[in-house]
Amino acid sequence: MIKGEWVDNAIVLRTGVFREADMWLRILCRERGLVTVFAFGATRSRRRFCGCLDRLNTLLCHVRASGRGAFLNLTEATLVEGCQELRRNWRRMAVAANCLSFVEAMGVPAEGAADAFALVETLRTTLERDAELPSLFTRYFRLRLAGALGVAPRLDVCERCSGDTLGRALFLVNEGSVRCTRCPAPSVRYVVPLSEEALALLRRVQRSFPTQWPEDEPLREDRRCCAQAIDGFVQYHLGLDWRNGRFQST
Ligand SMILES: [Zn+2]
Repeated sequence: MIKGEWVDNAIVLRTGVFREADMWLRILCRERGLVTVFAFGATRSRRRFCGCLDRLNTLLCHVRASGRGAFLNLTEATLVEGCQELRRNWRRMAVAANCLSFVEAMGVPAEGAADAFALVETLRTTLERDAELPSLFTRYFRLRLAGALGVAPRLDVCERCSGDTLGRALFLVNEGSVRCTRCPAPSVRYVVPLSEEALALLRRVQRSFPTQWPEDEPLREDRRCCAQAIDGFVQYHLGLDWRNGRFQST
């Protein structure tokens, strides 16, 4: 049962209409994480919702649990920040849709919500303003969100000897960790070799926001290995795969 009434900043990830005038919204709240709220009469009430219940908008949301606590009722919302250019750019909106689908598939509990919220706000700013995006942008986003949720791969030291990885390392996909080249070769099947540059790139992405991700393209081989490491991690460790336009359990 859900109780109470609260006010929080939230980003709209996805919306739907039902019974003609009513809407449901998947929103990422700064304090509470990912929740579904219902906005009754939303398509008719400009007074309570100011016509601002669009995907990617940041809203100040007033939410109240329903009488029996079965669902959350969005009673009022005001626009805090939105985007204009981005909505006219279908390629960029596809990148946004991919990232938002990943957020939904992962789920965001209250713990980690503030970091995930900041990440999605910076995602919107970057997609709206940056001229160029790195080719691995959506993959960087997945790696970074895993970090916000406390399930990121451990890339800082060798998982076996805890020593420095001295330039190169092997990424153990289903362990979600790296092993240095001084240690014996791992017996696990899914291993991706990472150069010093590739490993530094993944570490940097994991520590920063989209506005700070390097725009310079890595070398072709590094790009391939980084993509393989992140894809492998998402599939084997997080159990998610991109199918039919959204992330689903593998
Ligand atoms: Zn080692």
